[in-house]
Amino acid sequence: MSLNKFKAKLVNKAFYILNHSFSFFAANTPFFNQTPFVLHIRITSQCNLSCPFCYLKEGLNQQETGVLSIEEWEKILSPLPRTTIIDITGAEPFMAKDFDKFLLLLKRLGFKCSVTTNGTLYNDHIFKTIIESSIEYILISLDGKEELHNELRGSSKAFQRTTEFIKELQTRSKQAKKKLLINVKTMLLDENREDIIPAHQIHRY
Ligand code: SF4
Repeated sequence: MSLNKFKAKLVNKAFYILNHSFSFFAANTPFFNQTPFVLHIRITSQCNLSCPFCYLKEGLNQQETGVLSIEEWEKILSPLPRTTIIDITGAEPFMAKDFDKFLLLLKRLGFKCSVTTNGTLYNDHIFKTIIESSIEYILISLDGKEELHNELRGSSKAFQRTTEFIKELQTRSKQAKKKLLINVKTMLLDENREDIIPAHQIHRY
């Protein structure tokens, strides 16, 4: 394993521990429990895919009412300590109304953030938005080999779109010298057990 890959693994591990374990410690320690260490925001219930295992189930693609404006988000987020990591999920965050403006707000306020995406919705504007944002960690869903992934995600183009997204993001973040951890997130299902190792190898191209 090269030194860079080893360092990337260490950083990745550290972020995971901070994001998922320390929040538990913080929540149970008097000194820390007054400030959220991680704030999870489900920014939208909209998604362009329709995976049968979707954790949102009937909550997916519901008509959204009472969506917060950027000004309202600013009022909510401003009092938080800037050590709070904003972890954004959705359904698919890039379908959220004014998501680019929301990311700009996080950057302006001085927050670091992470985003989970299916990696199929992108264009030049979205890439620029990611690169210019304070996203430091991006999790991308990939569940196995092409045929199975497409079947699981209900789209014949899902695998191709997602792997192209990963490659392009790697290229652009490198060009921009942006500190960005790109991770593949895999749902462990009966259907993809045999594909878990190949999916991991795809991530390492
Ligand atoms: S991509 Fe994620 S949010 Fe969208 S349908 Fe699939 S599991 Fe649900």
